[in-house]
Amino acid sequence: MVEPQAHKRGIHMDFPRLEGASYANGDRTRVKQVLINLLSNAIKYNRPGGTVTVHCASGSPGRIRIDVTDTGAGLGPEQVKQLFQPFNRLGQEANAEEGTGIGLVLCKRLVESMGGAIGVESVVGEGSVFWIDLLLAGEPHPVAGTDGPLSAPRSPEPGQEKDCILLYVEDNPANLMLVEDLVARRPNIRLLSARDGITGVELARARLPDVILMDINLPGISGLTALRMLLDDRATAHIPVVALSANAMSRDVEKGLEAGFFRYLTKPIKVDEFMATLDVAFKHANSRPATAPAGDEK
Ligand code: MN
Repeated sequence: MVEPQAHKRGIHMDFPRLEGASYANGDRTRVKQVLINLLSNAIKYNRPGGTVTVHCASGSPGRIRIDVTDTGAGLGPEQVKQLFQPFNRLGQEANAEEGTGIGLVLCKRLVESMGGAIGVESVVGEGSVFWIDLLLAGEPHPVAGTDGPLSAPRSPEPGQEKDCILLYVEDNPANLMLVEDLVARRPNIRLLSARDGITGVELARARLPDVILMDINLPGISGLTALRMLLDDRATAHIPVVALSANAMSRDVEKGLEAGFFRYLTKPIKVDEFMATLDVAFKHANSRPATAPAGDEK
């Protein structure tokens, strides 16, 4: 997920080859968000041509530790002290590219709510090691019979029997994979994706999705321009388009809603808000009276 980002900066990623499986207690999506955040930071604040090394070993008793080591500028003791404080971004975010960063403060909250811990060791001029500890768990034993029901299609929620198509226009693969995970909770939703605005608009015209999820900062045309094109086209004007953007100032949100977004969500993705918004958007899409064939509308 993060390798394209690393390659762009000539950074080598070194992942561990694990000798055996280890199991930890945690929420899969949240653990993934935390790891993506640590890996993205290790790439973002590395030196060109640097290395990111991931290491995994049993830590203190009952825990497993994952280290993410970078070869960046490192952090002084003062900076380390402030790292997990709310509203502190080390002044490095001003020129930061849009990422999936949920922020270290939120990482800390998530890891601790899973009974784990997070920390950093850093040497100025050498780099930093960010680590998380998770609670070790025993090997899960598959329960007899779960194979069938779990792999069989789950029964849809009432009112969601219809198969729906969601188009996600997003250039960041990590965000796309996170949304794939979340959408998997709704077995009736088919997810399509496009990496830029023009492809997104073309795909929307060709497939007429029920709902569109739109990033704002995209290569080529912006999400706002893509929205304009969708609204200007009679074939796609009715589709609710939900913005999902790292531009989180209230001005950005207002501007987005004025431009015609159905809802405006900000990154990092808040899981509950995201799922609730999807449900509202699909309900809206399904409540639309069936349209006459295009030929009759003239
Ligand atoms: Mn983007």
